[in-house]
Amino acid sequence: MDFGAILTNFIPILTLVAWALAAYLVVLWAASVLWTYRDISSRSGEVLLQVLSVSLALFIPFAGVLLHAILRPRETQAERYERTLEEEYLRRDLEEKYVCPGCQRPTDPEFILCPHCHTALRRRCGGCDRAIDLTWVVCPYCGDDGSSPLIQSYVRRDTGQIEAYE
Ligand SMILES: [Zn+2]
Ligand SMILES: [Zn+2]
Repeated sequence: MDFGAILTNFIPILTLVAWALAAYLVVLWAASVLWTYRDISSRSGEVLLQVLSVSLALFIPFAGVLLHAILRPRETQAERYERTLEEEYLRRDLEEKYVCPGCQRPTDPEFILCPHCHTALRRRCGGCDRAIDLTWVVCPYCGDDGSSPLIQSYVRRDTGQIEAYE
């Protein structure tokens, strides 16, 4: 058997292998386009962005998918939603940290009195007029040590009760 005859016998097999390989690549390419479509729809609701990403995968087989993976939005929409929910909970948690010791109702950190039960929450510094913690002996803003008689008669340090100005 000479070489030419061997080759003639092998050509149909080679053709078959080539076709199988081509079909395999086409299926892979189609799958990559489908994956890109699913991936971008989970990450963005913008139609333009979706069309761009799918076009990348469609017209630049395989390398386009890689490009998409590099350029795609970092978070999926579900992740983004979850994160905003978490942030919202965290914010609410922080807000609810300020509750009135008298009636347990939420207050604002800037409040001087509880609007519901009138418990003293903070006092005004005699030096700079800013709201400061009742337990602070010295104002951290201006260094006033509270020795001003006006302040001591206004809010008693020990009980936190407001007393009439004498
Ligand atoms: Zn209260
Ligand atoms: Zn002050």
